[in-house]
Amino acid sequence: MFWDQELETLPRPALEKLQLKRLQDTVRRVSQNVPFYQQQFAALGIKPDGIKSLDDVRRLPFTTGVDLRATYPDGLLAMTRDHSVRLHTSSGTTGKPKALFFSAKDVDNAAELIARSLVMTGITRQDVFQNMMSYGLFTGGLVMHYGAEKVGCLVIPAGPGTSDRQLMLMQDFRTTAIHILPSYALYFAGFLEQKGIDPRKDLALRKAFVGAEPHTEETRKRIEEAFGIDVYNSYGLTEMNGPGVAFECEHKAGLHLWEDNYILEIIDPITCEPVPDGQTGELILTTLKREAMPILRYRTRDITSIIPEPCKCGRTHCRLNRITGRSDDMLIVRGVNIFPQQIERVLMSMPQVGRNYVIILEGLDDMTVKVELSAVGFDGQVEHLTALQSQLVEKLRAELLVKPKVDLLPPGSLPVAEGKAKRVVDKRSI
Ligand code: AMP
Ligand code: ZN
Repeated sequence: MFWDQELETLPRPALEKLQLKRLQDTVRRVSQNVPFYQQQFAALGIKPDGIKSLDDVRRLPFTTGVDLRATYPDGLLAMTRDHSVRLHTSSGTTGKPKALFFSAKDVDNAAELIARSLVMTGITRQDVFQNMMSYGLFTGGLVMHYGAEKVGCLVIPAGPGTSDRQLMLMQDFRTTAIHILPSYALYFAGFLEQKGIDPRKDLALRKAFVGAEPHTEETRKRIEEAFGIDVYNSYGLTEMNGPGVAFECEHKAGLHLWEDNYILEIIDPITCEPVPDGQTGELILTTLKREAMPILRYRTRDITSIIPEPCKCGRTHCRLNRITGRSDDMLIVRGVNIFPQQIERVLMSMPQVGRNYVIILEGLDDMTVKVELSAVGFDGQVEHLTALQSQLVEKLRAELLVKPKVDLLPPGSLPVAEGKAKRVVDKRSI
């Protein structure tokens, strides 16, 4: 199903022509209105008229999270503040957040991108959409909310509230779709199990949209199996409007990035040179339609790759592979580079393993993976636990090339974060 079939299936030459026109407009606007970019353009000798092809995007300066904080609160505004109608900030926990202003058109456009994204997974106005993400400064609440309303769904702004309340709303209003953090979805599945609720029989759920934090294909499968529903990966970041940047279609085979709104590049994060299509690197995004606060070549730090083949759904907008983590999430343990997602992949592929885990780094360079057991794994037989522990240590060693310690814990014994899950606690002395 399509929200805007013509735009979603625009032939590549027409899509690229549209991108170029919007890039030229964006560069012109920031060169007129944003001192931060004016200074950078002057230093690099960039004139708006010099942007003649899409490749010229590579001549533009990068914008980093540090730049966003340095220009906080409103140094990147391209319009006066009275043109803005909404503010969101990033979920950063230390120092100043990154602030993002929206004009009325930006708010509407962000909702449009969500509407497109939801409809391509089969959401219709008949759906009851329970948004279980936080409704504060975080974009996962309001931005998704307005998009689902645009489709015509009945939207329940549940927020992250307690599980009892979520369940009550789901039962009373026959919720068919949820927007939820993957870590919370796993926890919520355990909660339903405890309550003796069988989602297949007792609930009307059919789809979940999960995002805002890295998660693996194994985690998706677990959520799908626990609820008996389809789960779609949703990617976004505050700096680029929040959710709705890239989203899976009904084929669940990579995330379509809405290229009429963003130019994407994948670069080697060290050399900053582009990598060939299909190769992994850091995602760089340039906004093409943002009015209040356009951002050029934003260094997302998110690691992914382009899927070069066209999608079966007929959409021409490029697909990205699942984000495997952020370049700044990478752990160096005994000289080896490790992404937390590698650990999650191993853990979630084993039925004896439960739904929550944490990676602890301490001492000189010791890694301990504390992981909850599932009901299957927690059978009270000590010899089973010892065998499982050795099996996990061996699987993790083979994946990571570093041998961790593994602590097995009873189901439900690790704390569940209020918002995004915190998977790594680094207490190392060096
Ligand atoms: P925030 O600005 O607080 O919404 O955080 C955005 C960040 O969350 C992104 O830059 C990613 O690192 C992460 N993120 C969002 N969606 C996903 C996703 N579907 N898969 C992996 N990471 C994600
Ligand atoms: Zn598709």
